[in-house]
Amino acid sequence: MTSKVAVIRCDSYDEEQVYKAVKEGIALIGGLECIVPKSDRILFKPNLLNKAAPDKAVTTHPSVFDAVIRLFKEQGYDNMFYGDSPGNPTNPEKIAEGCGIKQVGEKYGLKYGEFNKGKTVNFPEGRFVKQFEISEGALEADAIINVCKMKTHQLGRITGGVKNLLGCVYGLNKGMCHAKFPDPESFGKMLVDLSRYLAPKLHIMDGIVAMEGNGPFSGTQVNMNVLLISTDPVALDAVFCKLINLDPSLVPTIKYGEEFGLGKYRDEDLEILGAEVSDLIKADFDVSREAARAGKWQNLSVVRSLLLKKPVIMAEKCIKCGVCVDACPVEGKAMYFKDDKRQNPPLYRYDKCIRCYCCQEMCPEKAITVKTPALGKLLIYKK
Ligand code: SF4
Ligand code: SF4
Repeated sequence: MTSKVAVIRCDSYDEEQVYKAVKEGIALIGGLECIVPKSDRILFKPNLLNKAAPDKAVTTHPSVFDAVIRLFKEQGYDNMFYGDSPGNPTNPEKIAEGCGIKQVGEKYGLKYGEFNKGKTVNFPEGRFVKQFEISEGALEADAIINVCKMKTHQLGRITGGVKNLLGCVYGLNKGMCHAKFPDPESFGKMLVDLSRYLAPKLHIMDGIVAMEGNGPFSGTQVNMNVLLISTDPVALDAVFCKLINLDPSLVPTIKYGEEFGLGKYRDEDLEILGAEVSDLIKADFDVSREAARAGKWQNLSVVRSLLLKKPVIMAEKCIKCGVCVDACPVEGKAMYFKDDKRQNPPLYRYDKCIRCYCCQEMCPEKAITVKTPALGKLLIYKK
């Protein structure tokens, strides 16, 4: 059986326009009632990486979130809530408010779920990971509706459907996932098993204004004018790849997504409905397209230090807030303030740094970029 992906052109966040696009897309893949039983307790899961205005393309746009909830309401669903555990997990609701998402929840009378508490769950079917720390909010849902964002990501190349589910892991456990699965391949496998465990029933990707370059927080907004909708997160992400001219097999969550039976990505396994993909392709979308050849060697400190892309602070932008240091999941920290004073930007201990890029992801000032060492360009990253 093929995986259906609806590709709906939508060139503005005008609420009515977005609503019509979401409605059309869901109808194309079979309609809500075929996907989510009316009796289900439904969690709407946006991307709430960190506090950012909706037009920055960091988080799911409120218009898309609004359209999805409105459609469920209008079709008679009434047992619904929303939530996410952001990258900065200290106060999820405050971040939701800063992104305009909480206001949508309030408009429809939806409560924010419990995303700062959770429990250890066993997943014997896991192909790579058999245990997760999942938030109570995600555990109490019968159906998760994944309302994700189209963005680049330094570790996994893209963040779309599969990666967005990391927000169902509560609090600082997300950082621990990076420490435990430091390289893109193992992190991707973990995400695929997490997605298999959570098994959202529907994925809706906000790609009206996407993020390219130094994502997922510090990149550049780019008009992609599209919404993608599917019940298969691998197929959804694969169509995202088509739109940005990226080989999907280079994305670990797609490669292992197929291997572990989460979904499909090959052309012959996809049924693309709605708009013509060729009309929406942005071939020069700024995303990492080179094949990385470090393989398992990248877990050796010397290989990482000499060859792999590394986070670098742009001192002129740094306000010495220390968010990056707090976000670093490495025991003993791979970055620090000299003499414990905040007179200068933090310094890196590159020999300890596992290249998870959490610091780059969480810097509120977009002061951290990622650079490839000259030797890495020669030996590891192949154009
Ligand atoms: S998070 Fe950004 S602004 Fe804050 S100390 Fe780190 S680099 Fe500087
Ligand atoms: S310094 Fe940054 S990239 Fe390196 S391990 Fe810490 S958070 Fe990850």
